[in-house]
Amino acid sequence: MAPIPGSGLAKGLAVTLRTMTRKSHTAQYPDVQPELPPRSRGVIGLFEENCTVCMLCARECPDWCIYIDSHKETVPAAAPGGRERSRNVLDRFAIDFSLCMYCGICIEVCPFDALFWSPEFEYAETDIRDLTHERDKLREWMWTVPEPPALDAGAEEPKELVAARKAAEKLATQQAATTQPAPPATPGAPTTPSTPGLDAPSAPGAPDVPGAPGTPREGGTA
Ligand code: SF4
Ligand code: SF4
Repeated sequence: MAPIPGSGLAKGLAVTLRTMTRKSHTAQYPDVQPELPPRSRGVIGLFEENCTVCMLCARECPDWCIYIDSHKETVPAAAPGGRERSRNVLDRFAIDFSLCMYCGICIEVCPFDALFWSPEFEYAETDIRDLTHERDKLREWMWTVPEPPALDAGAEEPKELVAARKAAEKLATQQAATTQPAPPATPGAPTTPSTPGLDAPSAPGAPDVPGAPGTPREGGTA
């Protein structure tokens, strides 16, 4: 069937009229910054304190655009008679964003949480060589990484947080035990007799332990 003359024009006008009444979604960038989702893949930040130079990210990167150099250092034994240990020290960590395809594999495979996505995207360069970001630049991106979302109500606390809290509590207890000064001897104050068989008067403020006379208190001196 032959098309009706002018039907194409009518269709075009109908589309124009329909879209004229819709809200425009034009983004006025760069005058107005876009509101990006917090998990946008803009650039990769490096938290190098967490990096153990395991090289997993560089090996798994499909574009081979992660460059890592390191050397080994010997760490003396922690205790007399212990063994020396060696550790990797990071010399260079760079990502070439002119090759990166933002797949996120490096971030997924990093076993030590040293790489993170940042939503920052304004790092266009006129020289392609400037798109290779060295470790200092990658560290700067870390400060633009958004906080992780809060845990769901009733969710199990991450084991890293539990371990860190226990270690901090243990350290605080040890420090309190070592820094607590011994109470000064007050002249004229009654002293605790140490003769067996005599009733020892309780020191002021000290709790009485029923059935356990003479039990040394924690932190007490012999
Ligand atoms: S996002 Fe993908 S391509 Fe880019 S550095 Fe990581 S692994 Fe390589
Ligand atoms: S995978 Fe993680 S820890 Fe290993 S070298 Fe890469 S950033 Fe460092």
